Amino acid sequence: MPGSGRAKPVVLVVIDGLTPSMFEAVDTPALRFLADQGEYRRASSVFPSLTPVCLSSIATGSYPDVHQIPHLVWWHGDEHRLVEYGSSFGALRAAGLTRGIRDTIVDLNAKHLSPHAETVFESLEGSGLETAAINITCYRGPHRHLPALPGAPAVWGPKRFFFYSLYESDQTGAPIAIRNRSLGSIDAYAASIGRWLVTRDGFDLLVYYLPDYDFASHAFGPDAAHDALRRSDAAVGALLDAAGGPDAFLERYAIVVCSDHGQSKIDAVSRLEVDGRLVTASNRAAMIYTDEPRRDATGLDADPSAGIVVWLENGELVARRDGDEDLALLDTVPNGRVRAEAALRNPNAGQVLVSAAPGYEFLDLAGRHHVGGGSHGSLEVEDSEVPMLTVGLGTPPASITQIKPLIVDHFRSAGARAA
Ligand SMILES: [Zn+2]
Repeated sequence: MPGSGRAKPVVLVVIDGLTPSMFEAVDTPALRFLADQGEYRRASSVFPSLTPVCLSSIATGSYPDVHQIPHLVWWHGDEHRLVEYGSSFGALRAAGLTRGIRDTIVDLNAKHLSPHAETVFESLEGSGLETAAINITCYRGPHRHLPALPGAPAVWGPKRFFFYSLYESDQTGAPIAIRNRSLGSIDAYAASIGRWLVTRDGFDLLVYYLPDYDFASHAFGPDAAHDALRRSDAAVGALLDAAGGPDAFLERYAIVVCSDHGQSKIDAVSRLEVDGRLVTASNRAAMIYTDEPRRDATGLDADPSAGIVVWLENGELVARRDGDEDLALLDTVPNGRVRAEAALRNPNAGQVLVSAAPGYEFLDLAGRHHVGGGSHGSLEVEDSEVPMLTVGLGTPPASITQIKPLIVDHFRSAGARAA
C-alpha cells in the first residue's frame, strides 16, 4: 500500500473517436461528475488522425516521426508488402489469426513501433512502478505474456495486461470479449477487468481504452452516438463504483479522460489513384509512395477529395490545396505545421500525404467507407480536436503527445518529494 511518498495512481481513459462537442455536452453520470471536478481543454491529435497512429502517440508521448507508426495501412519497405492494421478489430478477430491480426496485435508493438520510442509502460515500470493496460493496441512493456489461444505468439506488455480475452495476465472472471461491438461488449469487458483492478488497487497507472464509441460514431456520424457514449460512461462508472463511489475514487486516483482523434461527417467517397504509384488510403488520409512528390502532389490539384496535400522538398515542408501553395494553409488546422512535418519525417510514411477535403472519405483496400456516417484521419479540425480532461494532474495537455510526459512527471515529482 502507499508509502508517504507514493504518488496517487493514475487512470488514463481513452474513449476512441469522442469529439470535444460530444464530451462538453455530456449528461451521463460518471463523465459529468469527472468533468465538473477537473480541468478541461480541447487538445490536438496527430496526423494522420487514425487510431494506430494516435494510440502510439499517446503511449509513447511522441509524434509519428519518432514512433514510426504511419497510418492504418502502409508499405513495409524492408518486407516488400502492405501492412494493414484494419479499422475494425472485430473483423480481424473474426477472420482469424491471419497476417493482419498479427500485424495489428503483435508486430505493431514487437516490430513496427520504433525501439527508440519509450512507452509509458516501459518508462514507469523502469522506475519500479506497476502499470496495467486494457485493450489498448500500443502496449509494449517489459513483461512477457502468453496467449489464451494456442498458435498466437507471446507478447511483451505491462505487468497487468488484458487484451480482448486474447492475453490476460490475471484471472479476473471477466466475460469473453465477444466481437459483436454493436452490443457494446468490448467496453463491458474492459469494465469488468477495470473493476477487478480497482478493487485490488492493482496498479500505479491503468490505461483504460474504450473502442466502442468510435465504432458507433462511424456508423451514425459524429455527435450522434449517444447510446455508445452511455456505454462508455458505464465503463468509467464501473471504476468509480469499484473505488466506493465518485468521491472515494478521486481520493485514491488522479485521472485523464481524452479521446485519440475526433470524427467528421461523411457524404462523399473517392478512390484516390495516382498513375504508376502505390497509394495507401483509408478513412480520411492517404499516402503516396513516390520519388516525384511535387509531380504527384500537383496532380491532385483538381481532385475535389484532396484537401491539404503535404510533402518535403529539399528537406522543407510544402503544403498545397487546389493549386494554392502556401504553408499558411496549415495554420487553418490544429497544430498543422508540426503534425504535417512529423508525419512526413516518418521513414515508413509515403512521400506525399493527402488530408481529405471536408466531407470526403477515401476508399480503403476493401472498398469500405462510411458515407452517411463519420470518419477521421485528416488534418481538419473535426478529426483533429479531442476532449482533454484531467483531475488531480494540473493543467491538461494541449496535445495527445503530452499525456505521457504529464503522467511520468506526476510520478517523478512525487518520488522527488519522498527522497
Ligand atoms: Zn475510427
